[in-house]
Amino acid sequence: MPLAPARKVYDVCIVGSGAGGGMAAHVLTQAGADVIVLEAGGMWDNMKDSAMLKMPYESDRRGASTKERPFGEFDACIGGWSIDGEPYTRAPDTKFDWWRARMLGGRTNHWGRISLRFGPDDFRGKSRDGLGEDWPISYEDVAPYYDRVDQLVGIFGSRENLPNHPDGFFQPAPKPRCYELMVQQASRKLNVTCIPARLSIITQPLNGRPPCHYCGQCNRGCAVNANFSSTNVLLLPALKTGKLTIVSDAMAREVTTDRAGLATGVSYIDKKTMKDEHVQARVVVLAASACESARLLLNSKSSRFPQGLANSSGVVGKYLTDTTGTDVAGFIPKMVDHVPHNEDGVGGGHVYMPWWLDNRKLDFPRGYHIEVWGGLGAPSYGFMGGIHRYPTGGGYGASLKNDYRRYYGATVGFSGRGEMIPNSDSYCEIDPDVVDRFGIPVLRFHWKWSDHEYNQVKHMQETFRALIAEMGGEVFSPMPTKEQGYGIASGGRIIHELGVTRMGKNPKTSAVNANCQAHDVKNLFVADGGPFVSQADKNPTWTILALAMRTGEFIADQKKKGAL
Ligand SMILES: Cc1cc2nc3c(=O)[nH]c(=O)nc-3n(C[C@H](O)[C@H](O)[C@H](O)COP(=O)(O)OP(=O)(O)OC[C@H]3O[C@@H](n4cnc5c(N)ncnc54)[C@H](O)[C@@H]3O)c2cc1C
Ligand code: SF4
Repeated sequence: MPLAPARKVYDVCIVGSGAGGGMAAHVLTQAGADVIVLEAGGMWDNMKDSAMLKMPYESDRRGASTKERPFGEFDACIGGWSIDGEPYTRAPDTKFDWWRARMLGGRTNHWGRISLRFGPDDFRGKSRDGLGEDWPISYEDVAPYYDRVDQLVGIFGSRENLPNHPDGFFQPAPKPRCYELMVQQASRKLNVTCIPARLSIITQPLNGRPPCHYCGQCNRGCAVNANFSSTNVLLLPALKTGKLTIVSDAMAREVTTDRAGLATGVSYIDKKTMKDEHVQARVVVLAASACESARLLLNSKSSRFPQGLANSSGVVGKYLTDTTGTDVAGFIPKMVDHVPHNEDGVGGGHVYMPWWLDNRKLDFPRGYHIEVWGGLGAPSYGFMGGIHRYPTGGGYGASLKNDYRRYYGATVGFSGRGEMIPNSDSYCEIDPDVVDRFGIPVLRFHWKWSDHEYNQVKHMQETFRALIAEMGGEVFSPMPTKEQGYGIASGGRIIHELGVTRMGKNPKTSAVNANCQAHDVKNLFVADGGPFVSQADKNPTWTILALAMRTGEFIADQKKKGAL
């Protein structure tokens, strides 16, 4: 993609092309704005570049991971836990891992597509239990945008009328697979709610896109465009308006400002030439993912903004959260020697368990949901996690092959995904001593879980073990101890970092207002997970999309009124 024409002034410059950037570009180009997107990674088109139907035997690696594709060589996302020449650092004793995508569409090319709305209680946590902060907006403010995201992007699910798990405009959900039916039976016995999953995969035609054909390979990107990626569902139609310019391999360095303190554009490094470039725009929208956007703001220092841009409150980088997580898997003897059948389905679970308990009877606040996996997924490198874990498994020759056939599909696993309470020990800041290969100062992370999260994860472990026992199964791993943090995943590992440019009414305690507009710079907006005031027991991307749509429409409206 070309460099930005030097003297042109765009209506809007968006940094990042993932969930938030893609939605902002879609809304603003539909509204007639002249938009430029700066994307640090290369171009990508799932319809051409996806390895959706590639068989493991077509590669010598059999699908094993590579450095830039840690989730497997056929995975659609280029990026990972470490990127050559782009380090980040951790304070002593901090365990935090940061996943970054570097490609058009960001992490939406391979994400799990679990698409859950936050519920009314999720916007008012402090009012409920005194912890964290309330959002300056309520579910009712976001609901119309969730409705429109559902209809624009497409989602399947079932109407359940559960109190804090709002229903949406769902297409029909696929039927549970065999092992998922067994999980549902066990859940019913233990009074755990278990309902059809809610994923942004279409099961009926939508806006010219065909429905899913159930190949089960969503993480590789969908070559027929039946699942959601920013790349093919948002950016492609935005390009068709003729109003969108995408500059790939453009690593934004800082947001530039004028004497009046307004944003004038973004300076970036053209990664192909390593030259500094600048794009001018009347409005800047940061959607580089929560921590990258915070990094850009902290690096945009000037005499007028010595603490970085939009940071007179000092909260940029603060209140970093991730989802809590832990997993348990087990072997289910009842599923050995099953009748061979195809249960590929969509690329993700067909059922899940939304939070079902009352915290007043528990020793932790807030909740978690449970994601279910297992069964007969297409075999690949690392398949079944090692045959030696199964009774009599191992050896060689015919008996080994026979063991693989017998035990294939006889595994069930549960992953808990819960709400962390923001705390003052978990944040990111600029490391004063380290720069990346472009000379841009990098982030240093600080992280601490509190007992709220440890107790919640202990409860997850106990629940998953009870479910596997109810199915007559054997768990693969012993119960983790308190000293092992009950098996809690390190900060960042669930890849739901949020909150580092949080929204609020008070400019002294928040970076952006309820429209995701910087308190300090009226033509600067954040459209990723940065403005989140709290996590929820839901994955965040459906809310990132709804808020980015809301912010995009606010910008279009303000421009029409001449206020921007
Ligand atoms: C394996 C995996 C599974 C997931 N599953 C789910 C799920 O099931 N449900 C869910 O809700 N969420 C899930 N997520 C999280 C989801 O992917 C993110 O919440 C979502 O993509 C965030 O959108 P974003 O726009 O903030 O950032 P991203 O999608 O990460 O996009 C940011 C973009 O900005 C670009 N960028 C960064 N810095 C710069 C810079 N300085 N200059 C220019 N461009 C820059 C990046 O290259 C990237 O393309 C998952 C993530 C992963 C990795
Ligand atoms: S499972 Fe469906 S949505 Fe996913 S890649 Fe296959 S066809 Fe596409």
